[in-house]
Amino acid sequence: MRRPVVMGNWKLNGSKAMVTELLNGLNAEVANIEGVDIVVAPPALYLDQAERLIKEGGNKLILGAQNTDIHNSGAFTGDVSPEMLKDLGASHIIIGHSERREYHEESDEFVAKKFAFLKENGLTPVLCIGESEAQNEAGETEAVCARQINAVIKTQGVEALRGAIIAYEPIWAIGTGKAATAEDAQRIHASIRALIAAESAEIAEQVIIQYGGSVKPENAASYFTQPDIDGALVGGASLQAAGFAAIAKAAADAKNA
Ligand code: PEP
Repeated sequence: MRRPVVMGNWKLNGSKAMVTELLNGLNAEVANIEGVDIVVAPPALYLDQAERLIKEGGNKLILGAQNTDIHNSGAFTGDVSPEMLKDLGASHIIIGHSERREYHEESDEFVAKKFAFLKENGLTPVLCIGESEAQNEAGETEAVCARQINAVIKTQGVEALRGAIIAYEPIWAIGTGKAATAEDAQRIHASIRALIAAESAEIAEQVIIQYGGSVKPENAASYFTQPDIDGALVGGASLQAAGFAAIAKAAADAKNA
């Protein structure tokens, strides 16, 4: 039985006041939710503040981050390393988000290097994959996802996926309000798990596969009742404490039912 993981990607949103308000709100909202890992990924600049607030709130929330460099120190201006993320209490690190692939031209190979470096440093990669609208319309979704996951499997072996998280995020559904149907998402999740199972049934069975793309409190349960959807990566709706907690609760309720 996989324990669901619901993660909030705050993207480039935050201020000291906002971080305090949102995390104090979330600490209260999630206090009685059991059976789900609830992760928040604020901008790196606020990780220290977030770590303190999460501790004050009883450590019910898990701290994550939105990106990493592939070095731990040195002449890499502007970057943030796994060691620094760990030092600030972050454990779950998003890599390969479509916004980084697009705006920062991150390739499958570069994302795979990040994956390997996070594992080497004892952190949990949250590997984002997913197709564009054009690829979706051309029927290329499974092939795109396979290519993105194989960039890890072919360089590091399927064993690298042990303990990692995959977030299937169709790009056309991110921030658009145009979410994939739960049935379509389930079909893709099953194909991702089958791809991994072809290498190792055991690892396929334990790997967490989140859905991401316009998940809201209103549609969350429809995803979590699907057998291969193990949680969500949430953008916009993670910036509101009650709504994000409702999504986490929907995951806990569906998977504990
Ligand atoms: C995301 O940024 O990973 C995301 C899924 O965003 P949203 O929930 O706003 O679509």
